Amino acid sequence: MSTPIDLLIHGASGRMGQRLLALAPEHPGLRLVAAVARRADIPGVAPGLAWPAARLSETPAFALMVDFSLPEAFDGALGLALARGAAFVSGTTGLTPAQREALDAAARHIPVLWSANFSLGVAVLSDLVERAARALPGWDLDIVESHHIHKKDAPSGTALALGASAKAGGAEPRYASLRAGDIVGEHWLQFASAGERVELAHRANSRDIFARGALAVGEWLAGQPPGHYTMRDWVAAKALD
Ligand code: NAD
Repeated sequence: MSTPIDLLIHGASGRMGQRLLALAPEHPGLRLVAAVARRADIPGVAPGLAWPAARLSETPAFALMVDFSLPEAFDGALGLALARGAAFVSGTTGLTPAQREALDAAARHIPVLWSANFSLGVAVLSDLVERAARALPGWDLDIVESHHIHKKDAPSGTALALGASAKAGGAEPRYASLRAGDIVGEHWLQFASAGERVELAHRANSRDIFARGALAVGEWLAGQPPGHYTMRDWVAAKALD
């Protein structure tokens, strides 16, 4: 068996970070070497593996960082992955244009993959949306997303990514956001014209789909040359396996 890939989880105390920690043992190709959060008392992490963000630069060697944190924590995470020459997977949403440019720049030196959504279902929905937009020119398109009350950015990164697919097909989407209760994530799209409507929807019941997707993508990404990868690249690579 080949040597496991040393993994750092950034944002480890959060809703997503906790699922990443719980599911990482399902991936024998990965070995957790460090978990980072704002504070070092991270539930479920042995003290020797837990690091506060203030001591990020002192973390041990790693080959893959998986980041689900917040925009204000993102620059430090990407900077460390770059300094260590490690692969970088991020699901952090609400990034600024400058942070997206920093991802592009880092991709000249390390493999990076950012996605607003690591679920296979949303990857398929994105394709359907682009095709529907192309087939229904001039129709109104509304994208409505619902998430838990703690989510800070709106519209969601996934809604914006679906909107980008719709724009690629010629549509001009409008967005609406709901924040309520403990909703994991729902995206509902309505194409409307005089006398008829087409609806497409995706509902996430568990954060585990995103965590499993990010870990699987990370295991693959750590073996790739520097570049800016997408979920489509990963799906295409898996299809060739
Ligand atoms: P959360 O608020 O529960 O957790 C945030 C984590 O970031 C915590 O561990 C916190 O300690 C850490 N953090 C905050 N400030 C920090 C700092 N300055 N330095 C280091 N760490 C810091 O959030 P969450 O619900 O787990 O979501 C995290 C991110 O993932 C959000 O941007 C969310 O929108 C996104 N998300 C993406 C997907 C996807 O598939 N791409 C799915 C779910 C959530």
